[in-house]
This record gives sequence, structure tokens and C-alpha cells, in this order.
Amino acid sequence: MSDKKSFGFETRAIHAGAAPDPATGARQTPIYQTTSFVFDDVDDAASLFNLQKVGFIYSRLTNPTVAVLEERIANLEGGIGATATSSGHAAQLMALFPLLSPGDEFIASTKLYGGSLNQFANTFPRAFGWKAVFVDTDEPASVKAAITEKTKAIFVESLANPGGIVTDLEPIAAIAQDAGIPLIVDNTLATPYLIRPIEWGATLVVHSTTKFLSGNGTSVGGAVVDSGTFDWSKDGKYPALSGPEPGYHGLKFHETFGNLAYTIHGHAVGLRDLGPSQSPFNAFLTLNGIETLHLRMERHSANALKVATFLESHPAVEWVSYAGLESSKYHTLAQKYLPRGAGGIFTFGIKGGYDAGVKLVESVELFSHLANIGDSRSLIIHPSSTTHRQLDPAGQAAAGAGPEVIRLSIGLESADDIIADLAKALDKAVG
Ligand SMILES: *Cc1c(COP(=O)(O)O)cnc(C)c1O
Repeated sequence: MSDKKSFGFETRAIHAGAAPDPATGARQTPIYQTTSFVFDDVDDAASLFNLQKVGFIYSRLTNPTVAVLEERIANLEGGIGATATSSGHAAQLMALFPLLSPGDEFIASTKLYGGSLNQFANTFPRAFGWKAVFVDTDEPASVKAAITEKTKAIFVESLANPGGIVTDLEPIAAIAQDAGIPLIVDNTLATPYLIRPIEWGATLVVHSTTKFLSGNGTSVGGAVVDSGTFDWSKDGKYPALSGPEPGYHGLKFHETFGNLAYTIHGHAVGLRDLGPSQSPFNAFLTLNGIETLHLRMERHSANALKVATFLESHPAVEWVSYAGLESSKYHTLAQKYLPRGAGGIFTFGIKGGYDAGVKLVESVELFSHLANIGDSRSLIIHPSSTTHRQLDPAGQAAAGAGPEVIRLSIGLESADDIIADLAKALDKAVG
């Protein structure tokens, strides 16, 4: 009942995927903190291992608490299934794993979370032979121009880190569809409350649930959501999903499981063999976070707009990049894709460059200087001295993380207190 797509977002954020515990009646989803599940008998075990029956074997593959989280996130994104993972980075690995073989390519936006740029540019090619081709997705034509016969996916962020950038999903989804490849959208910064990329043509959505979905800065986790709309067997481009799987006696996932193939593969092969499962305890905390997602995203967005407006007229500030501001070059896109608010994260440029940036993060008191976003607390970071310091100056600039850039993740405190803290610290840093 509670999973019905006809219920409002708020209702589904609280109920989707969950029911009172059948064994005890517990209303809140229990933490099934167990590694393994007892088989009824040998036949039961055999059919579970052969994927002829859905059930629980071992928590590296599936777990009842984690399964509720997977259903809830899939429901909120409008997908058909989800695979929860140990982190957002694990979700990115798991999203690409069924799609690419050594020597294959995928197109990635230059405007991504700094850790994703490292994972894609350095570790994926070295470890797996997957080549990331980076393009500026502000120019959809350059995405099209970068596609070759080896391209197996396009990867973008809906609302891009470090802040204020909105991706024009519709033309990019059309390019992916023409090329017969899936569009993967990292929806971490926006969350499904602000935008559901599947409605704009995404095939897969990935999350770092570490951020707004868990919401209180307690739990590292991730998820991959499948729209269920892609034909994996169309042209033999995705043999892991369309061809025989040696680990299951030659079973063909797409032929056997239809539009659930990608999600079942994610558990039966991805989590089984790569191993980045989410812990039941983290899934429980993240489920509790999601129950208030709609309330929090509204307030994060409202507070961020107030802070961005304050900074825009401050003499120590060079520029503010928040898509909720009319001055933003992404404002029109934000009105189209994010009508409920432009989220809680944005960047601004401080006068005085690198040194002033360092001084500012050392002068704030209410803000916490740390490498996370999407907490109930307000957070601040100077990307060029931290998250983006591995990149050269050109790479930093391309990622929107030059020496003067400050990234804020605006929390749920009183907007006046957040602004007062920044005002005081700006006076110290630039004054
Ligand atoms: C944090 C983040 C990630 C990585 O997630 P982890 O949970 O830290 O592994 C990926 N993409 C975006 C947009 C992020 O903000």
C-alpha cells in the first residue's frame, strides 16, 4: 500500500518499502544486524543460490533492513529497483561495473565532486581499464562529439559539486538515447525531493546517501537506482547483462529477469564479487533521515537562498554561484529542473584569493570546517586547499574550485545565526 506511486512524496518518504515487522509487529524498521539467514532445508538453499527464489542468504548480498532502504530510494526516484552500497564512491563503481569491460570508455562531466574526478581519472583506468573522457556538459554538443563505439555510458551530476551548477539533463538524455547508451546521474546534491532525473530521461541514478538522504552526518553509504527502461540486450553492447554469466551456470540476466536484470545483477554479481555492501545499521540511520527529507530540503534551500543573497552584496565577496539567485547563469535551468529550491550547497569567491580563503575557514565558529556536505549543521570548506588539492590549477578551475572559491553547505540552524557567523569571519579574513 505504502509503496503506491500515487501517494505524495512526503508519504512515500516515510512509508515506502516498510511495513510493521512480521515477526514482532515492531513499527519502525528493525536493524537486522546479522550476517546470515537460516535455510528451511537443502532445497530452499539450492533455489536461493540458483537465483530461482528471492530471499536472504548472507548480508554481503541482501539484508532485510538494507532492502527497505533500497525500496524506499527506488520509489522516491521513480525507479524499479536499487542496490545500496557502502559509500557513494562504491555506488559509482557498482553503477559502471555491469556496463564496461577493459578498454571501454565513458563520458564524464568536468564538473563533478572532486573525489569522483580522482576515481574516474586515475583509479578506474589503472584498476579496470575503464577510460573516462571528460567533457564540459554545459555544451551538450561536446558530449555528442565525444561518443565513440567504445562509449558505454554518460555520467553527470544533476546539481553539480562543488556548487551552483545545474546540468541540462534533457538534451544530454536525448544524446544518450540516440547513441543507445545509458545516462547515469549523480543526484546526491539535489535528492529526489528537488529533482527526479529519471523523469528527464536518466537510465540510472546514483547517490552518496552520506549526504542529505541520511541528513545528520552519521552514516557513509550509497545507492544505485535503475529506471528499468533500458534494453540491455538490444545490440550486444552490455554482455554482462545480456550474455551468459559463468558465476551462475550461464544464466542470462536480462533474458531471465527482464527489467529487474540490472538490480538483480547488482546484488548477485556486483555485491557478491566486489563486496561493497551497506551495513544494516547505516541503512537504519539513513531510513530515519529520509523520513524528514522533504522538510529538510525545503529548509536547506530557503536558508541557502538567504545566505547567498547576503553574500552577494558583501564587499569582501567577488561573486556568488547559487542557482537560486537570479544573477546565476544557471538560474533558468534551476527554474526548469529544480522548481522547489536550488538545494543547500553553493560556492562563492572571496576577495584576497587562497590566503583569504584559508583565513575564512579558520575564523568561522558556528560553521564546521570539514569535508562533508548535506549535514543538519552548516559546513564550510576551501576546495583548493582540501578536496580539490590533487588537481592542477587548470583542473581546479575546470571543476569550479579555483583558489578564491569557498564551498558552503548550509544547515538547518537559524538563518540569522548562519549569516552572523559568516559576517564576522569575513571581517577577520578580508577586513
Ligand atoms: C560525497 C559525494 C560522492 C562520494 O560519496 P561518498 O559517500 O563520500 O563515497 C559522490 N558524488 C557526490 C556528488 C558527492 O557529494
